Amino acid sequence: MNQNLSSLSAGRHWLTIIITFCLVALAITLRPMEVSANRAEVLSTRVSISLPGEPDILKTWPEPDSTNNVIWKREEVRKGDSLARIFKRVGLPFSALHEIIHSGNLGKELKHIEPGQIFEFGYSQERFTQLRFTISKTRTLSATFSKGRWTTSEKLKNVEVRNEYAQGIIRDSLFAAGNKAGLSDTTIMQMAEIFGWDIDFALDIRKGDRFSVIYEGQYVNGEKIGNGRIIAAEFINRGKIYRAAYYTDNDGNGDYYDPGGRAMRKAFLRTPVKFSRISSRFSKKRWHPILKKWRAHKGIDYAAAHGTPVLATSNGKISFKGNKGGYGKVIFIQHGQKYMTVYGHLSSYAKGIRKGKTVQQGQVIGYVGSTGLATGPHLHYELRMNGIHRNPLTIKLPQASALAQKYMLGFQKLSASLFNQLALLNPPQATALDDEQTTDVFTR
Ligand SMILES: [Zn+2]
Repeated sequence: MNQNLSSLSAGRHWLTIIITFCLVALAITLRPMEVSANRAEVLSTRVSISLPGEPDILKTWPEPDSTNNVIWKREEVRKGDSLARIFKRVGLPFSALHEIIHSGNLGKELKHIEPGQIFEFGYSQERFTQLRFTISKTRTLSATFSKGRWTTSEKLKNVEVRNEYAQGIIRDSLFAAGNKAGLSDTTIMQMAEIFGWDIDFALDIRKGDRFSVIYEGQYVNGEKIGNGRIIAAEFINRGKIYRAAYYTDNDGNGDYYDPGGRAMRKAFLRTPVKFSRISSRFSKKRWHPILKKWRAHKGIDYAAAHGTPVLATSNGKISFKGNKGGYGKVIFIQHGQKYMTVYGHLSSYAKGIRKGKTVQQGQVIGYVGSTGLATGPHLHYELRMNGIHRNPLTIKLPQASALAQKYMLGFQKLSASLFNQLALLNPPQATALDDEQTTDVFTR
């Protein structure tokens, strides 16, 4: 909103400067002797042109509701605020708050408040009868008191979705290149997630890697309010082209597929923590910093901050949860007959995690810690196939299901034009930058 206002006034400002310039230029040509007088005149006109209007625009928000003589009081959520504190600040009793929160399912949503959000308190005949809460640019909750009780309702604004395009070349980091291309951090992370099964964004990214993206831009009344999902994307990693497009089947299940209709998702996530650094790899022999001797390291260590969520890398059943020697607090997950994954040194377990419980791929099962034999917070992750430790980074993992045959034609029709657009955005070029140099993808 503010940005719009300032760009509006900036636009007007430039227009007046241009007009001023033209008039002055005209004045110079016509009456060279009176230039200074003319310029002063024009400048004073400019001031009187640009001043009105602006304060009016600012005053129009929030719109006062004049129906039924309701008087509105506006209160912004401050840092550390609670609903009770806000009610107290505007002088309303806790009982009113209690009634509103318990007036239906929507009432509970009032509890999730963030600094900067707006509460509007409506009074008719000095009695508090209405509450409005602006949750987002598209959603407002209202509570109204009538016939002795509070009822809550919501108002949704129409979001218009427009396709937006971006393209970039990685020079320093994925985030730097993405931001430069106009992508938000969320969209950059989405892209890393889509290709994360094939490309290890912590290790495989090279200078000169390129991407192009088609994503949803969301607009309300012509004003951009955010980004939706990526519709299609292309990533060229060390010369190899990866492409994905989003497709929703008739049952409403949406997912990303490659041009052949194979799911981008694999049966296993490549990494069990989001965006961490690998601190120790799978090896036959490594110096153990605590045991002070050489021994095999049959897993991957991911250094991550204490408390970082740990994700189940595939659907499965928890076969062990508890303390186990050097592992410290550890979770074992059995995936079918063949595979098992192990997550060690946890600081704590996620809620509801216990032996025998089924978990989904990507579900948070615990949190990074340094229990057991660990020098610092990290996750020790193992993948065993038929009881044998395998390197999770190099093992060829089974694919998730492909698109059902009955959807294939529809998908190919839709994706062909998307992939064409992506290829046009990302034309092949000789960008053989230093291939050996690894770039730090997740720093700016
Ligand atoms: Zn380890």
